[in-house]
Amino acid sequence: MLVAVDVGATKIHSAYFSSGKIVSQARFPTPHKSKAALLSAIKKAISALHATPSSIGVCVPGFVHKGIVYGLPNIGIMRKFSLAAELSKEYKCKVSVQNDSKCFILAEWKKGAAKGAQNALGITFGSGIGGGAIINGKPYEGASNQAAEFGHMKIQIMGIKCPCGGFGCFERYSSGSGIEGIFRHAGGKRLSAKEILGSKERLAVSVSKNTAFIAGIGTASLANIFNPQTIVLGGSVCGAYMGKYKRNFLKGFSSAALPLIKNTKIRKARLQNASLWGAYLLAASASPNVFRSRS
Ligand SMILES: [Zn+2]
Repeated sequence: MLVAVDVGATKIHSAYFSSGKIVSQARFPTPHKSKAALLSAIKKAISALHATPSSIGVCVPGFVHKGIVYGLPNIGIMRKFSLAAELSKEYKCKVSVQNDSKCFILAEWKKGAAKGAQNALGITFGSGIGGGAIINGKPYEGASNQAAEFGHMKIQIMGIKCPCGGFGCFERYSSGSGIEGIFRHAGGKRLSAKEILGSKERLAVSVSKNTAFIAGIGTASLANIFNPQTIVLGGSVCGAYMGKYKRNFLKGFSSAALPLIKNTKIRKARLQNASLWGAYLLAASASPNVFRSRS
């Protein structure tokens, strides 16, 4: 049985697959700030499937290399722990662990909006901002699997502090948690990103327009560097950037894109739960070099 687990900032979504289809799935809230609680919630999500896994693929919202997690900024855990080894010990099978946005673009490239592209970028605007790159027909990992950490690209000198330990990171300005922080800083109430982006109130609209514009500029800067054929956008905030605030996003994009970059295809993710599907592809893949960090 192939099991995939998508560890998100708010929920852990597990599923077991047979012949490329989801047979059963489970969702549990993600505990924050405790490594032990997180690990036990992941095990609970796997055990709830009542399957005996032959291979497990896990994606996490953070920094991971060779099965070891080095930090999950949006879950409040910045300590290193060996997630693949812990799960492998428990379930006695292969465990692959990868960053969730790398899983997102892997799935969108294999089965979704970037299918057939030789060069593609995935950018997920969720609680944070994640990224993944396909270069010359291959997923790109970098020297220590940290390539395409777009959310931590510095866009402001001495800018807002980020849970990663840095300052002025892209995700502090255009992610869900970034929007919430900027809105409060501007004198707004404690609202969720969804409420701010959906509101007709003046301050909320002004913050939303501005964050969509910055998201467009950041996306163009990345397109200028990677020159992809297709950029796939995902995450909970992307609906507003590709919908209500699309004009502001595209204004930001075209203001920063180089002449030959302006026509880059920008698409919304086609798959539901793309990161979970990416985790499934990790579990299913026989190749040792497809965005994977094995125990
Ligand atoms: Zn950061």
